[in-house]
Amino acid sequence: MSKQLFWLGFEKYFNYLGVGFLSLISGLFFLEVLYLLSGESSSFISYWLYQGSLSHAAAVLSGFLLAGVIGGVWVNSKNTLEFLSQETKSLQEMIQAKVDFISFVSHEIRSPATGILFSLQALLEEKPANLSSQQLSLLTKAYDASQDLNSLVSEFLDTSKIESKKLELVIKPVVLETLVKHIRNICSEYTPLLEDKKISLDVDETLDPTKVINADAQRLFQVVRNLLQNATNYTSAGGKIKITLVTSPTQFQFSIADSGIGIPKEEQDKIFEKFYRAVNAKITQSSGTGLGLYLCKKLVEGHRGKIWFVSEPDNGTTFFFAIPLRVGLEVEELFRRI
Ligand code: ADP
Repeated sequence: MSKQLFWLGFEKYFNYLGVGFLSLISGLFFLEVLYLLSGESSSFISYWLYQGSLSHAAAVLSGFLLAGVIGGVWVNSKNTLEFLSQETKSLQEMIQAKVDFISFVSHEIRSPATGILFSLQALLEEKPANLSSQQLSLLTKAYDASQDLNSLVSEFLDTSKIESKKLELVIKPVVLETLVKHIRNICSEYTPLLEDKKISLDVDETLDPTKVINADAQRLFQVVRNLLQNATNYTSAGGKIKITLVTSPTQFQFSIADSGIGIPKEEQDKIFEKFYRAVNAKITQSSGTGLGLYLCKKLVEGHRGKIWFVSEPDNGTTFFFAIPLRVGLEVEELFRRI
């Protein structure tokens, strides 16, 4: 609770009492004036005090007090609501400023970062014979770092697009046979890294390859890459990763199981939050933005799909995502903003 909200809590009770007493006094004053105007010679208050029924007086007075308290509660809830909506507005403005800043910086970095990546790639493809093995290894490291920088910039840009509801999916019918072929290609991109870490990777499929999903295939591959990258990052040498592709009568399901560090139980409900990284992950892998899973969730949900996981700390994690199969010749929605 903020300090201001705390004081508002106190103020509330003083306000209730204050408004209650005010209505009590003004009510009495009002009755007194009415009484005198009606031609009575003695005061209304003295009539009550000396001749009237005390219980009657108490009932009227408590009525005023109650009305005052209700009025106080009403005025105060209005104030509290106004205060909260102001707080929410300034918080939203702060988040928007942060997103705008990230978006601006990422846009500025994108061109030079892509330039560096393409130049290093061109250099490496030439396989320069006059470079020593040490120089070649430095060049490869620079290329890898530049790839990381580019994916970081893409993650920031995608996040800022999602935050401002400007990320557009280009939805087309995708036959599962093609999709699976691409997923296998993505797996082979990871072979050097997996061999380096001595992690085995199996792909198992039990599906009807003729089935179709409505999807932005590139965005689904981004999800697959991210899940595969995470499984590789959070599994130690000698571990195992298994990808399973299945269809049910209504959906296509992708799952990736690893034998890695797992996700602590108490942190599992936060794992899809923006910038969230579990404590054990920060120890195992110091670099990481905590944006990958946030993007995966948004992208899968943008496909009317679902993403979830099961994880046992120190015993591995399995991530799943499921996308509905196309039913008949469902009408196409070509662009979808998420
Ligand atoms: P990053 O990997 O850059 O930290 P992600 O958004 O991809 O960001 O993942 C968020 C967090 O989820 C990770 O930091 C890690 O704590 C946890 N996580 C994701 N995948 C795995 C996995 N396969 N095994 C264990 N923890 C994982």
